[in-house]
Amino acid sequence: MSLLIKNGRIITAADDYKADIFISGEKIQAIGEKLQVEADQTIDAQDHLVMPGGIDPHVHLAMPFMGTYSSDDYASGTLAALHGGTTTVIDFVLQTQGKSLHDALSSWKGRSDGNCYGDYSFHMAVTDFNEHTAKEVGQLIEEEGITSFKTFMAYKGALMIDDGQMIGLMKEVEEKGGMVTVHATNGDMIDTLIAKHRSEGKLSPLYHYLSQPEITEAEASGRFCDMADYTGVPAYIVHLTCEGALNATRRAGSRNQKVFVETCIQYLLLDASLYEKDFDGAKWVMSPPLRQKKDQKALWSGINQGLVQVVATDHCPFKWAQKLMGKDDFSKIPNGHPAIEHRMELLFSEGVNTGRISPNKFVEVTSTNPAKIFGMHPKKGCIAVGSDADLIIFDPHKEHMLSADTHHMNVDYSAYEGWKVKGKCIHVILRGKHAIDKGKVKIEKGYGSFIKRNKVSKVV
Ligand SMILES: [Zn+2]
Repeated sequence: MSLLIKNGRIITAADDYKADIFISGEKIQAIGEKLQVEADQTIDAQDHLVMPGGIDPHVHLAMPFMGTYSSDDYASGTLAALHGGTTTVIDFVLQTQGKSLHDALSSWKGRSDGNCYGDYSFHMAVTDFNEHTAKEVGQLIEEEGITSFKTFMAYKGALMIDDGQMIGLMKEVEEKGGMVTVHATNGDMIDTLIAKHRSEGKLSPLYHYLSQPEITEAEASGRFCDMADYTGVPAYIVHLTCEGALNATRRAGSRNQKVFVETCIQYLLLDASLYEKDFDGAKWVMSPPLRQKKDQKALWSGINQGLVQVVATDHCPFKWAQKLMGKDDFSKIPNGHPAIEHRMELLFSEGVNTGRISPNKFVEVTSTNPAKIFGMHPKKGCIAVGSDADLIIFDPHKEHMLSADTHHMNVDYSAYEGWKVKGKCIHVILRGKHAIDKGKVKIEKGYGSFIKRNKVSKVV
């Protein structure tokens, strides 16, 4: 099977030019002006942008939580991602405290294997670091291609590890060639504030926000940077939301340390005023919470300063009936919001089409950087001869509206209901296959494959 994409404007993290792309099998075979080749199928990309398929390195599909699951499974989640131009996702396996990393991996594989439309990989969340876990780190890197290890500095008793475990894990991961990523918020401070608000009868979603002030994230981000510097491990902060935390990484830079930073689309576009809408604010209950306008400004600047390398989603949808579990107590609202489908189009519309970021920067933070940081480049994240043919053909001018009535995510509301967006994914190619054709799905469930990742390079 071969495919020719003609007349497109190719945008990568570095380049911007007009050329044709010839694909045979799963790979890009040739790029050039007016290619003279015979192909089984031709797509005319005149007036459209051709960009690398998006990589969302932070999603939670079919994630067990409080006796329920996040509402997108591997089929609906990866398919919704494809509709929005994201061809690869990295999901999180969560170790159960007292059990092994491999136990968790096999239960996650049971839900994901054979069920994905798009390509996928896993981070391993280490919630219980001990002698046994330490032995598994090298095995996961060498045998499973799982090279990033997520940690939590919050959620004591369920997910959190203490600083001693953190240092132990960092040393092990550094030695074996992996990366440590972190949910950096101060769990003890937050637990104290939650208990205080509950005891005072302050139970609405607004108090979810007020229980996690900026300092809880700034403090933990700084502490994480210090521990990473001490151990020398490649380090990455997930879903960084605020100016104070960003400044912690800026200070790390001033001692010649490199810490990778991911923010998520919602922290760039939405703010904490949404928590003032009574229980409707539960739609945006996530951790860390939405912040202030000044934090959005810091994050947009951080992208252009190269301090923020990745824009992800932390997609973790729950249906309204699930959110209602916390109707009388904000601390029981399942955390997370649906965004896997909208990241690319929202960032293009609000970033590129408003002039806040360049088209090259858009590709860098949605695809190339996540591929490089997480050991998938140049297989993924670029448009080059020999790379996987993961491409989107994008109309930068097409206007459309986001709504629960039209989205493909398995959730009965939209966090962006009624948003008018300029720029739309028209075609999506995944490993050479025409996966999405103007909104129509042309691949089968199970086409998505697990991507084994390379060891982490310290010189990304
Ligand atoms: Zn997350």
